[in-house]
Amino acid sequence: MERIVNLCKRRGLVFPSSDIYGGLSSCWDYGPIGVELKRNVKEAWWRDMVWGRGDILGLDCSILMHPKVWEASGHIDGFTDPLVDCRVCKKRYREDHLEDTTKCPEPKCGGDLTAARNFNLMFKTFMGPVEDSANTVFMRPETAQGMFVNFSNVLDTQRVKLPFGVAQVGKSFRNEITPGNFLFRTREFEQMEMEFFIQPEDEAQWYEYWKNERYDWYLRNGIKKEKLRLREHEADELAHYARGCADVEYEFPFGWSELEGIASRTDYDLGKHAEHSGKDLTYFDEEKRERYRPFVIEPAAGADRATLAFLVDAYDEDEVDGESRIVLRLHPRLAPVKVAILPLLRKLGQPEKAREIHARLRPNMVTQYDQSGSIGRRYRRQDEIGTPFCVTIDHQTMEDGTVTLRDRDALTQDRVHEDELQGELMKRLFG
Ligand code: ATP
Repeated sequence: MERIVNLCKRRGLVFPSSDIYGGLSSCWDYGPIGVELKRNVKEAWWRDMVWGRGDILGLDCSILMHPKVWEASGHIDGFTDPLVDCRVCKKRYREDHLEDTTKCPEPKCGGDLTAARNFNLMFKTFMGPVEDSANTVFMRPETAQGMFVNFSNVLDTQRVKLPFGVAQVGKSFRNEITPGNFLFRTREFEQMEMEFFIQPEDEAQWYEYWKNERYDWYLRNGIKKEKLRLREHEADELAHYARGCADVEYEFPFGWSELEGIASRTDYDLGKHAEHSGKDLTYFDEEKRERYRPFVIEPAAGADRATLAFLVDAYDEDEVDGESRIVLRLHPRLAPVKVAILPLLRKLGQPEKAREIHARLRPNMVTQYDQSGSIGRRYRRQDEIGTPFCVTIDHQTMEDGTVTLRDRDALTQDRVHEDELQGELMKRLFG
């Protein structure tokens, strides 16, 4: 894990937040390379969940919502974790993460722990200039409620029929007791959530469908099968309203951990919002000629957690020409930079030719131009950020217009005519 954190800092993927002030605990900034990676993760999700299907629509809701939303959803009363303190070293823990709930797990300490207190994870702030309880608002702890409170808006404006889904990608905030493991658990993070509204009798079928679909999504984007599993929750782990819940888990260096949860939530959320808002959140089924509240299957993923899993999974070290190299074997769809353009020499017209080719490719894909250092070092730099292809302009290019196309993983170098380069790259990158 430390090697990944170091690589992320060295190559501009992820920096500690407020770095010049010593960082802010568990807050991270995505650098110029990391921002492309995370965007690609979110875009892969959006493409597969929204654009690529006819039955899911998007939303982008505000982070601050009416406080009654959180009353109705149960977050004000129930969104808590059990907090315990060590009486000796004063460290804090989540009781449900401890094996022995009476002793501090710090090996050198082992002090007595306090009884657990429920700690609400929502961040509070005030709307307007007066800081009193009447003006308290919360930073949303999940994006899901935006979809539930907009159910009627979507229904009334989009002429949708069951089954249909509403999806959102956006920031959420949780005042976690024990954040950590780099991007895995932070207090500010991005979620990719979708509420799929269905006829109640189709619940079992859609629950199976979304578990399989979401598990496959990670495989399709390059995660190794032996590192991914789907874990069904035990009955005692389920929320009281949930009919079923399964986690897609990844084997991180710190153990198997949740990437995404798929929950069958019945009509609980729409029911609670109907009760608290007094609005009718039912659906009129024209075929059945009846009105009812749809059930919901919710796949809820984290963009930062997924980004971390893709990074960890892609990280590899091998040897090329007797030299060790670090390489991120990212799926081309997720790779931050798709192609690097490298003139072999800084003379004989090669940089000019390389810039010309670069300018032609740039509108269609994320590219980098690099002419500094030996060609071997330039390849290493690109390998470390996972660039799938490098295009080298050499003396032969100046004679016959062909360039070499180097493949990050196979390490092959094929000669391709510059006029066919874009088509060849598109084929290799996007199939
Ligand atoms: P955990 O048990 O790890 O706290 P959770 O079950 O509370 O997670 P959900 O409420 O189901 O998580 O949120 C859906 C997804 O949002 C999670 O699977 C995860 O990918 C992401 N997520 C939740 N909390 C965090 C966090 N603190 N930092 C980063 N991602 C998070």
